[in-house]
Amino acid sequence: MAAIRVAIAGALGRMGREVARAVGQDGELALVAGVVRAHPAVVPAEWPARVPLHVDLAEALAQTRPDVLVDFTTPTVVKQNALAAVAAGVRPVVGTTGLSAADGADLAARCAERRLGGVVAPNFAVGAVLMMQFARLAAPYFEYAEIVELHHERKLDAPSGTALATARGMLERRGRDFQRAATPTETVAGARGGELGGIGLHSVRLAGLVAHQEVLLGTLGQTLTIRHDTTSREAFVPGVLLAIKRVVALDRLVHGLEHLLELRIA
Ligand code: NAD
Repeated sequence: MAAIRVAIAGALGRMGREVARAVGQDGELALVAGVVRAHPAVVPAEWPARVPLHVDLAEALAQTRPDVLVDFTTPTVVKQNALAAVAAGVRPVVGTTGLSAADGADLAARCAERRLGGVVAPNFAVGAVLMMQFARLAAPYFEYAEIVELHHERKLDAPSGTALATARGMLERRGRDFQRAATPTETVAGARGGELGGIGLHSVRLAGLVAHQEVLLGTLGQTLTIRHDTTSREAFVPGVLLAIKRVVALDRLVHGLEHLLELRIA
């Protein structure tokens, strides 16, 4: 069977480099292009010299004809990248966070029109996907919920895509909002965090962290805490490789790795 041709947008970013290394080591996959924001003065030694780096995504897709575009860029360009991929008949595998629900629906519609597969996963780590599913399962049984997500200081968006997906999944399963404890005096603005459907959302940004999240649920006389820690970016790689291999057989966009792992709790 011919190798699946893979291009990576954000090729020289932290995730892009992890994915490039893993794709290069996988016999079922062939790395055919990297897309970067600007050509680096010096191409890092780890980037395979035979694989071209492009600044223009459309040009990269036209010249190298990938089957799949993996995107680990920034919230500001992810949507246009994914739409450009679909327009070129290339399946998007999106790890970049910052796509709104409306953006996701748009992308799903474009994939459906072309009967093209796509994967958008706010978190490619299996433990994080399980955390989201366990939170979903618990949601109907508790009146109060808070999500604390903790990430490295260079993260561009807040709350994290994982925190948002967790909250949306909990609300969907519960079918109604959580109760939000009223705090009549907020001495420091924002101390109670953001809020979605009664769920408090708190984003910690701290050097030294990778990606961590705690879901706290409370009701009379008991609390439940579900916590996941990503201690290295290697955690995301198996999920990305799985998505690349599975997306070529899909004819629609799927949102969340749980659909590929059959982990979804209805
Ligand atoms: P990073 O800053 O190290 O890398 C992003 C790269 O994208 C940079 O090299 C930047 O130059 C490049 N870039 C910016 N605009 C571009 C454009 N128009 N075309 C091509 N490249 C462009 O960030 P990172 O840690 O690799 O994370 C990237 C994204 O992935 C973030 O949104 C992050 O939250 C997300 N992320 C998701 C998962 C997941 O499991 N879904 C895991 C880790 C990170």
